[in-house]
Amino acid sequence: MKYVSTRGMAGEVSSKQAIIKGLADDGGLFVPVEIPKIDIDSLLYEEDYKELAYEVMKLFLTDFTEDELKKCINNAYDDKFDEELIAPVVKVEDYYVLELFHGATSAFKDMALSILPHLLTTSVKSENMGEDIVILTATSGDTGKAALAGFANVKATKIIVFYPDGGVSEIQKKQMVTQAGDNVSVVAVKGNFDDTQTGVKNIFSNKQFGEEMLDKGYRLSSANSINIGRLVPQIVYYFHAYLQLVRASEIQFGQKVDFTVPTGNFGDILAGFYARQMGLPVGKLVVASNDNKVLVDFFRSGNYDKNRQFILTTSPSMDILVSSNLERLINFYYGDEKTSQAMKNLVEDGKYSLDLSTVFDDFDADFATVDEVKSTIASVYDATTYLVDPHTAVAINVSKKYRNSSNSQNKMVVLSTASPYKFPKSVLNAVKESLDDNLTVEELVEELRNIMRLPLPKGIANAIEDQEIHDMVIDKEEMKEVVGKLIY
Ligand SMILES: *Cc1c(COP(=O)(O)O)cnc(C)c1O
Repeated sequence: MKYVSTRGMAGEVSSKQAIIKGLADDGGLFVPVEIPKIDIDSLLYEEDYKELAYEVMKLFLTDFTEDELKKCINNAYDDKFDEELIAPVVKVEDYYVLELFHGATSAFKDMALSILPHLLTTSVKSENMGEDIVILTATSGDTGKAALAGFANVKATKIIVFYPDGGVSEIQKKQMVTQAGDNVSVVAVKGNFDDTQTGVKNIFSNKQFGEEMLDKGYRLSSANSINIGRLVPQIVYYFHAYLQLVRASEIQFGQKVDFTVPTGNFGDILAGFYARQMGLPVGKLVVASNDNKVLVDFFRSGNYDKNRQFILTTSPSMDILVSSNLERLINFYYGDEKTSQAMKNLVEDGKYSLDLSTVFDDFDADFATVDEVKSTIASVYDATTYLVDPHTAVAINVSKKYRNSSNSQNKMVVLSTASPYKFPKSVLNAVKESLDDNLTVEELVEELRNIMRLPLPKGIANAIEDQEIHDMVIDKEEMKEVVGKLIY
């Protein structure tokens, strides 16, 4: 399997090379030349997450030996996860929730970022590269910690995480700034997530800077979902969810299932699209946005326009106006040339238009406001005592709107992307009559523990107790300079 750039100007590379590079030389994202088909019948008895992961991922990562890939998988999906199933499906009301938050940092980013460091170091080793890898990552809150946890103290790597100052939850920030490890740096950027992500992309597309770094023995790479090594592992859990429903006799084998996905950078839902192209019986993929509904407008009109107010919501990991992975979908439907043009327009004018006509029948899209998120957390809790975080609540709210307005008879799986413990204030605000505004994070978490049936995840307990180590705050114009300084 070869990988090419979405903009068509960078030639073919192997999966190992694509994982090492992160971004293609022409500024595009790597995509497989074709999406492989899988014989889903053969997976029916694949109950073990690791075995399923191997069957799916081997079709994309064809230059990994069986031994290499199995080692990566075994090192990733181990007892860092507090659930035997890794990603269990739970029935709630009349839909199913796929819980993706049982990893080390209690967010779905762990699904991919617990394996990416292994994929990357395996690739570097077999490509015989002399340089150390420097991972640059922009985070809207969850990627940062998951990447830090994955790369901390990994030999021959360094990691620098940039997060928007004031743009992440208190727990998310604590998780990051308490990260130990002699190869890790965490930096707050004065700006929002898009500023931070653009800053990182600019560093990557600065050829001169990249060459300077290579001369000094460092190769820049990315742990963001633009890296194909993040996308591929995410395809697995769509199969895993489906097979759980079959085994529990909730659906018949072959029956279509709809998925609603809380969406920011479009990585998670794109993995679902790939799963469907591989042959998984998927009905609709429903894009769920918060008040930053740039994707909803796009799927309704064909006009992508980021020229709008950036809104800080209670689901910060979805506060995004430039959804990087959408470029891969556009490439799938429209090819290189239109993709290049659209991305050029996005940089120059902040917008582009495409004729969606029939091609986007695969998707539906809607959004939930901050108030709707709050009332959704409350109503699900009242009906079932099941507590969800604000990102999951966005998706539940949107899934209900979709089911009311369409006449889909398909079963619905909602992807749950974070533990409620990561967002104690928003969750408590929703389920309690009144909440003292002056409670500390510790007190909020304790309060939540009193009403949750789930034990407090280890990673959250540590974040609260551990010493804060990283306190650097910079302007967005300083990002490149800071990378240079932090490395040598
Ligand atoms: C990253 C994240 C999302 C959005 O995922 P994308 O792949 O960026 O669309 C949703 N919820 C949570 C909790 C996240 O951390």
